[in-house]
Amino acid sequence: MKKAGGRGMSNRMPAAVLVEFGKVEVREVPVPQVGAGEALVEVEACGVCRSDWHLWRGDPSLVMYMEWSGGKLPIIMGHEVVGTVVAVGNGVNGVQEGDKVVVPASSTGDSRNCLFCRNGLSNICEHLWIPGFGTDGGYARYMRVPAGSVADLVKVPEALQDKSSWLAITGCGMGTAFNAVVDKAQVQPGEKVAVTGVGGVGLSAVAIAAQAGAQVIAVDVNSEALERAKNLGAAGTVQAEREDPQLTDKIVEAAGGPVDVAIDTTGNPQVGVGALLAVRPGGRMVLSGLMVKGAETLPLPADAVVAREVTLRGALMLAAQRYVTLFGMLSRGDVNLDPVIYREISVHQVQEAFQAMSEFENAGRFVVTSFD
Ligand SMILES: [Zn+2]
Ligand SMILES: [Zn+2]
Repeated sequence: MKKAGGRGMSNRMPAAVLVEFGKVEVREVPVPQVGAGEALVEVEACGVCRSDWHLWRGDPSLVMYMEWSGGKLPIIMGHEVVGTVVAVGNGVNGVQEGDKVVVPASSTGDSRNCLFCRNGLSNICEHLWIPGFGTDGGYARYMRVPAGSVADLVKVPEALQDKSSWLAITGCGMGTAFNAVVDKAQVQPGEKVAVTGVGGVGLSAVAIAAQAGAQVIAVDVNSEALERAKNLGAAGTVQAEREDPQLTDKIVEAAGGPVDVAIDTTGNPQVGVGALLAVRPGGRMVLSGLMVKGAETLPLPADAVVAREVTLRGALMLAAQRYVTLFGMLSRGDVNLDPVIYREISVHQVQEAFQAMSEFENAGRFVVTSFD
């Protein structure tokens, strides 16, 4: 193995470690070493995703995923990673030292050998790897990429090299939005699209759908988030209440009629049902939000789905194979992701960020960009 960096790199680093649910502590930990087939990434930016917050809270679906993928506490969190490859183990061919890469949050764990990976869907690999869940993630200067996942590291094109915060959120939030809007909902120009929840995924979805020529209605409880959605091209907004029995009516009114597409990023059962009932006959709904403890199921109004022949689909992050198209869109300058970034923070502020997210104070993504 080649040694990392060659820049007098210290062999210890501060890392934001989830030590128990609800508690992130900054600890000095050893810089990881890479073995055969593995890669070491020097992290430049790592987003704080709502699913990190779910894990931090101990919400069952995320804890289950962590356990299933072999992770356990304490673990360094963070799964929206962009950085530079600084060391590779024997047998690595696809990337080399100096390559700037995005680590798709939902990566192959089997070098793209399973049925799904072979069909271009490494984001639903049978042996899925998510950094910060299965192994240590990106809230530290260096992160090790396991051998089975190196195949999914995506090289960043020249035009985007200096967009670290944007690139970080393509790892999960923006990638999920692209999957939901472009691949699953297949939004067309002129369509009415409701996006419920305009955090990192939702704001990205607003930007992509607006760029595609849709009339986008952004829905959230946070008025600053709605302002950002407008800046990203939303044609209308709905200021929702925490518990909002009028949600469907508000969406339909703002859109001037039932919507062609609803994209729910909240995972909140009431919001999901409210959005679904705003979808026109023959319309589509994409679910991309995860659910919280105590509200793990959507009370599906099946009659409405049947009677209106609504198509329901899920979207889980984005397959590495689709980043060429996503990067193409960003490189053309068609979409500005600055309003999606709420605040750049240091690795020492992760616990505070989660606390703010519990109150839905943040409009957009916190991104960790300082690791000292
Ligand atoms: Zn995420
Ligand atoms: Zn696979």
